[in-house]
Amino acid sequence: MLKIYNTLNKTKEEFIPLDQKSVGMFVCGPTVYDYIHIGNARTFVFFDVVGRYLEFKGFELNYVQNITDIDDKIITRAHNEGKKPEEISLKYKTAFIDDMGGLKIASVNNYALASEHIPEIITQVKTLVEKGYAYTAPAIKATGPDAVEVGDNPSTSLGASDVYFELARYNKDFPNQYGVLSGQNLEELKESTRVEMEANKLSPRDFVLWKAQNYSYEPTNESPWGLGRPGWHIEDTAISEKYLGQQYDIHGGGQDLMFPHHEAEIAQQQASSGKIPFVKYWMHSGFLITKADKMSKSLNNFRTLRDTTNSLPRHPAETLRLYFLSAHYRSPLAYDDTLINQSSVAVDRIADFLARLTKASGEENPLLDETLKSCADKFTTSMDDDFNAPSAIASVFELIRALNPLLAKNTLSAGQAESVKTFFQTTVERVLGIVPEPKEQSIPPEILELAEQREQHRLDQDWSKADSLRARIESSGFTIADTPFGPLISTK
Ligand SMILES: [Zn+2]
Repeated sequence: MLKIYNTLNKTKEEFIPLDQKSVGMFVCGPTVYDYIHIGNARTFVFFDVVGRYLEFKGFELNYVQNITDIDDKIITRAHNEGKKPEEISLKYKTAFIDDMGGLKIASVNNYALASEHIPEIITQVKTLVEKGYAYTAPAIKATGPDAVEVGDNPSTSLGASDVYFELARYNKDFPNQYGVLSGQNLEELKESTRVEMEANKLSPRDFVLWKAQNYSYEPTNESPWGLGRPGWHIEDTAISEKYLGQQYDIHGGGQDLMFPHHEAEIAQQQASSGKIPFVKYWMHSGFLITKADKMSKSLNNFRTLRDTTNSLPRHPAETLRLYFLSAHYRSPLAYDDTLINQSSVAVDRIADFLARLTKASGEENPLLDETLKSCADKFTTSMDDDFNAPSAIASVFELIRALNPLLAKNTLSAGQAESVKTFFQTTVERVLGIVPEPKEQSIPPEILELAEQREQHRLDQDWSKADSLRARIESSGFTIADTPFGPLISTK
């Protein structure tokens, strides 16, 4: 039974989709004005694992992620660089899709661009205006050489208007809804930097659904309110309504999106459809934390995914996935080169193990079935418990630790080795995406056996025996590194 921690109710709940078989899932995608940083990558990898696991469990998954390609940050960057906003968004959208491929993101069915859903966005804003949850306000007159004359707009006799969501009206009709997800008291709500007080709003908490064009370099679309562009929050609900309906199962994103973005999404969609709840399970992943004191100036605090990937000589996708998944998704994860290196070692260890399996030619081992089953059970039990990937990964390395001595003594049959490989492909790789291509083994079996014996002494805390075996391994021309995932042996 799969349980999910639902941010909406602050509790782990059994996962029962609205429709028994299929699951609708939406995760907030990037705003494409720059390369994504490694913290964004953590979020997208985690939700990819959620998607992969749901499919592994037999659900039919419809996983939609939006791409915000109309946004103030894009417009500002383009204007500063003397480019069109479309050039900037196309460049970073393409980079984002490449990055996702490079991370083995496999479960997203649909990357939906905001710019390709303007009619759906306008329809939803219109519905909110018609139902009385949104109001128009004459656009604020901009100044400067690029300012557009408000009121001169040829597409409408009214001139261009902004459209805002009216929170007070929503709170009256939908009491005890706004603020529940983020656990905020309505009276104490602080203003976020993304909710600015424009002079034409009725209340500071009202948020923008449609922005009138202020400057000639801004991208525009025709609308009932003149030339303008959508606000950020409305992109997501217009897109999710199109592909997933007015109510669906899972909405995910980083913790920082809980307020005001996800609160705004809930308000918009519930007001527009009249249906509660908009989303049954809300999931939020934790931050990636940088250690400011350890970061060098050149690294900066926001390291891009690309910089990190380029610094990894082998298996970058598997290494980063394993690193991200090594902490529970709701916990913070430290950005730490040591942790990334350990993950690289762990992935090498999987590659070594798979290579060793191909050499198995012993007798049937009576212990194998039970060992494999216990690992597979622990793997799914862990994942069923709110996607506890660290525990699932631990079960995989326990299996490797248990089977390595048998492989060293050649006491597994070829058929049994094949069933272990199948488990790695159909479960570990399918769900977590951390299994690299098997590599040719270069460590002689007698050294591997010494390493396994030493590992056992270490587990028994018999340090002197462990040390003497280390000396023997090193005198044979190999080094041995101890990692949380077991020993890694390499040629000196
Ligand atoms: Zn979003």
